[in-house]
Amino acid sequence: MTALLELTDLHVYYGNIAAVRGLSLRVEPGEIVTLIGSNGAGKSTTLRTISGLQRPRRGAISFQGKRIDTLPTHDIVRLGIAHAPEGRQIFAKMSVRENLELGGFLRDDTEGLAADHESMLELFPRLRERLDQKAGTMSGGEQQMLAVASALMARPVLLLLDEPSMGLAPVLVELIFDTIARIREQGTTVLLVEQNARAALAVADRAYVLESGVLRLSDDAATLAADPAITQAYLGG
Ligand code: ATP
Repeated sequence: MTALLELTDLHVYYGNIAAVRGLSLRVEPGEIVTLIGSNGAGKSTTLRTISGLQRPRRGAISFQGKRIDTLPTHDIVRLGIAHAPEGRQIFAKMSVRENLELGGFLRDDTEGLAADHESMLELFPRLRERLDQKAGTMSGGEQQMLAVASALMARPVLLLLDEPSMGLAPVLVELIFDTIARIREQGTTVLLVEQNARAALAVADRAYVLESGVLRLSDDAATLAADPAITQAYLGG
């Protein structure tokens, strides 16, 4: 069967520093797959390479059976891949409403857009209260919600989420992970990068563990969550 996303022997460098070395990974339609690992393991680099923001030195990336690793980012977005990057890259000087509009700018189904706008406000009621507020003046957690909501406004086939729980209070972390589960129920496949391995393994179907750019192991998320070596290394014992 053709995977939705397939990375084959991916190598990514920054100058002569290898950030990802020989990574192979598959994401099947409808799955939540998580990529975990400590700081500098190459997780963000992997997502950036899928999005075309970084070029692989070697290896291949296929989406729905077609090579995408030489396509420019805007073509990759058009195929249905949305990326909510680390560090809440929203448009700070624009309002929440404008950010959501920009998230859906490639779509021309006016009714679908209006419906999705409404469902984002249902998913994140805090954004509704702040529709006309400048995004950059919101709290970190609120900006994080907006980043996720804007990516979803593209109605992606595959959502790449980079550290959505970073810097959030525990109650918001819970909300974000509940939201990831709901996003999948609505038909979007998710590739999730997280340092919060415990929460990521709880929501994901399968997981890949990266260590210094190399794939250390991959398995069902539940199996990894029960593995003492993994809990010790990544889940704080
Ligand atoms: P974290 O969880 O800390 O965000 P990560 O697993 O996402 O880490 P990456 O951000 O992918 O890791 O970084 C992988 C390696 O590549 C690190 O050693 C990092 O220092 C290096 N790196 C990342 N971006 C650049 C860059 N723009 N220039 C040079 N080196 C970089």
